[in-house]
Amino acid sequence: MKQPYLLLTPGPLSTTPTVKEAMQIDYCTWDDDYRNITETIRQQILTLAQANPQTYTTVLLQGSGSYGVEATIGTAVPRSGAVLMIAINGAYGHRMSDIAEYYGIQHVDVVFDESEAVDPLQIEAVLTAHPEVTHFATVHSETTTGILNPIEQLMPLMKARGIVTIIDAMSSLGGVPIDVDQLDCDYLVSSANKCVQGVPGFAFIIAKQTTLSQTANNARSLCLDLYDQWQAMSKQPGKWRFTSPTHVVHAFAQALNELETEGGVTPRYRRYQANQTCLSNGMQALGFELVIDSAVQGPIITSFKYPNEQFDFNDFYQFIKERGFVIYPGKVSDIPSFRIGTIGDVTTSDIQRLLAVISDYQKLNR
Ligand SMILES: *Cc1c(COP(=O)(O)O)cnc(C)c1O
Repeated sequence: MKQPYLLLTPGPLSTTPTVKEAMQIDYCTWDDDYRNITETIRQQILTLAQANPQTYTTVLLQGSGSYGVEATIGTAVPRSGAVLMIAINGAYGHRMSDIAEYYGIQHVDVVFDESEAVDPLQIEAVLTAHPEVTHFATVHSETTTGILNPIEQLMPLMKARGIVTIIDAMSSLGGVPIDVDQLDCDYLVSSANKCVQGVPGFAFIIAKQTTLSQTANNARSLCLDLYDQWQAMSKQPGKWRFTSPTHVVHAFAQALNELETEGGVTPRYRRYQANQTCLSNGMQALGFELVIDSAVQGPIITSFKYPNEQFDFNDFYQFIKERGFVIYPGKVSDIPSFRIGTIGDVTTSDIQRLLAVISDYQKLNR
């Protein structure tokens, strides 16, 4: 089967043929063959995130990334006596606020402009004004724009106040070096179909064992009870509660091995950075303007302003798609823009080909 186009999106993204091939085997969920794969994955994720296995554990959860974020918030935050601060600078931060609403969690939203990174000084000021805050959540790579938020500066502020921390590292883990031990965060959430380059189907949560062990009976959802999922996985190693996405898990195991073959997170980060630099320079040479400052730009996805008022994004999108690339519509609310992802099984030669297609589009003067 030939892949009709390359995905230049923030996930699902283009995976290698070998990752897709890994899904050709049918497994049953209770057999040792499968359970060994699950256990190995749980350990490999800790290594990937530089998390000490004595301190941290990995909980795998069926569903997309948002299921992982919801399970974490819904399990970490007790039913009463807790206040969640959420630092927001894009759609995924707002989604955490929506989750808090659904759960009736008292929350303090600190909202920044979508084209700016979360500012630790401002966060510190709001913390001083709200000493009642017990939990804190933010997004590392805000995929709305591609901004990398300064979690290294935010975590010590929380730690000094004994605040439980939740990081949505969905679109960064595996593609941007993250040192969980150093961060000393309580929860870090990611999913199978982003920078590890697996296919969609489950989320995973790296959790500090001492924190997670205090969350029994917190969850308001059976399926999204992170504590119970952890207990089940620990009691019967490698066994998920309820049916797990066996094919996806096997593809993920293959993807993790390929990440190791590539040399680990740092070489992958460099490849993504090279893609992003090539894209950003090439697009600017073609006359497109960036939405965010290069100082806070991450290597995952880049937002570009519409070049003029006549710009027809759908026409542009179709033209590019017919020539082998799928890009991503804009999500920045107040700036007409579109996004191009630079993660997945993608190299600078793919980006060069894309730039040639965009240049052709401009020559047609559509
Ligand atoms: C992809 C992503 C999610 C999860 O989205 P799903 O559609 O549920 O997989 C959450 N946060 C960020 C920052 C993301 O990039």
